Amino acid sequence: MMSARIVTMMPRARWFQTCARVMHENPLGLPRKKKESIPLMSRGLPIKQRISGVNRVILVSSAKGGVGKSTVAVNTALALQSLGRRVGILDADIFGPSIPRLLNLTGEPRISDNGKLLPLINYGIESMSMGYLVSSEKAVVWRGLMVMKALQQLLFDVQWSNLDYLVIDMPPGTGDTQLTISQQLKVDGAVIVSTPQDIALIDAVKGIAMFKQVEIPLLGLVQNMSYFVCPNCKHEAHIFGSEGARREAAKHHLDVLGSIPLNEAICVQSDKGKPVVMTDPELAKPYIDIASNIVAKLE
Ligand code: ADP
Repeated sequence: MMSARIVTMMPRARWFQTCARVMHENPLGLPRKKKESIPLMSRGLPIKQRISGVNRVILVSSAKGGVGKSTVAVNTALALQSLGRRVGILDADIFGPSIPRLLNLTGEPRISDNGKLLPLINYGIESMSMGYLVSSEKAVVWRGLMVMKALQQLLFDVQWSNLDYLVIDMPPGTGDTQLTISQQLKVDGAVIVSTPQDIALIDAVKGIAMFKQVEIPLLGLVQNMSYFVCPNCKHEAHIFGSEGARREAAKHHLDVLGSIPLNEAICVQSDKGKPVVMTDPELAKPYIDIASNIVAKLE
């Protein structure tokens, strides 16, 4: 009697274990080929890899949320495109993806014949985000292991089509995701976005230190919401102080790639999924300056 009971329970237990492993190995549920074996000696050692179909990778990073990093990432990507480059954007924020909203894109990505995710395209740029895979009302409730594996799939299992630049919109801070990307990916340069407030700058310094530690070249600092032009009298007011970011950048031997005004249209248009680089030539200028500075440094 006892042994029959054990026999009937066995398959169920095995099914559950297998399922748990597959979920961790392949959280995005992509079709898999034969498992590649990693030589024993290289297990555990991070190897920096290139992303196939991508020429240069740029990280857009900020030490804290809400400083306008994603807005800078999208508009800089579009500005690079306006300079004649083929561009894609990867949203590396698994828990708070904002690229779908900023590019006005929804829907699940299709899978290519070789089992890769096909990017969604708007305004001529290719994009991939966790936001396309999980509905916006649902929270991603995953432990670290699943998050890291999903991140790897977003990094290495997307079929980009011969891009000159892939802009990666990093999650804020200097945690696991940032470290994984910095250690596993061959990156051409990082852009730090900050507001001129001292509090943001204190955090930005941590981001600068992290990239130096993992030997990723720092392209420079973008000063967002750096001044306000009064719509009536055209007076330029430096609400958060004018020299903070520049001073901090100089201290760390960093260039300021550009300064973007605090402007209502940037906020309103971005929230509608209409980035200002596509809709407002005047407001596009600082982003085009940033893109030109990046191109000058990398080409
Ligand atoms: P982060 O990626 O750092 O969390 P977001 O790019 O999501 O920040 O921007 C946060 C909010 O600030 C958004 O509502 C965005 O439209 C707004 N925003 C970003 N840059 C500017 C700017 N220069 N002027 C006005 N609003 C801005």
